[in-house]
Amino acid sequence: MNGRLTTKLESHFVSRALVLFSGGQDSATCLAWALARYAQVETIAFDYGQRHRIELDVRIETLREIRAAFPQWSAKLGDDHLLDLSVLGQISETSLTRDVAIAYEKNGLPNTFVPGRNLLFLNFAAALAYRRGIDVLVGGMCETDFSGYPDCRNNTMKATQLSLSLGLDTKMTIETPLMWIDKAQTWALAQSLGGHALTQLIIEHTHTCYNGVRDAQHAWGYGCGECPACALRKAGFEQWKQIAA
Ligand code: ZN
Repeated sequence: MNGRLTTKLESHFVSRALVLFSGGQDSATCLAWALARYAQVETIAFDYGQRHRIELDVRIETLREIRAAFPQWSAKLGDDHLLDLSVLGQISETSLTRDVAIAYEKNGLPNTFVPGRNLLFLNFAAALAYRRGIDVLVGGMCETDFSGYPDCRNNTMKATQLSLSLGLDTKMTIETPLMWIDKAQTWALAQSLGGHALTQLIIEHTHTCYNGVRDAQHAWGYGCGECPACALRKAGFEQWKQIAA
């Protein structure tokens, strides 16, 4: 290996990443992806008056389980940050119209969603990353599953990366390891990163269901089995099992 390449690899290896970790399957896979690549990894989530607190509960549980099951990752896993963005409750549909029934839009997301939510999250994450000397943000944004959702698109990520780098006057990179893969491939990615131990941990401890159902267990994890998030997770799991069989 020549000296120049070694230096480049070393400088990559010491870089630090901040993972947007919500406690779902996708962000847990992104967290493992970051732990396999970066020397130090921190996590961030946002408390915005989620319909179901379960998401915030399972993320702590998932972090604890990752530390216990993967000692080599535990050493790299640093602080976890929870930012209060309760102000988002003031601009969500539920708050504007009150008692609105939860329904799903054409893009598969609930009508309670705040438009452009990911843009806000990335800006807050970048501000915190800057203060902590971190120059990489990792998120589970994906065009494959939610193609109708504009603030998850690759072009939006590229533009946000540019605007953050300009606005902070320092290079800020947004990594989206799931951007071009589907849910079956997300399970396969988790398997390749942490084997059976990681996929089992994701099944047992992460939460994806929009309806917050935690008392019904399936082969693919807990959830109502009916909402778009459960349907995607279930279909992806079954497809992955078929391919892996
Ligand atoms: Zn569900």
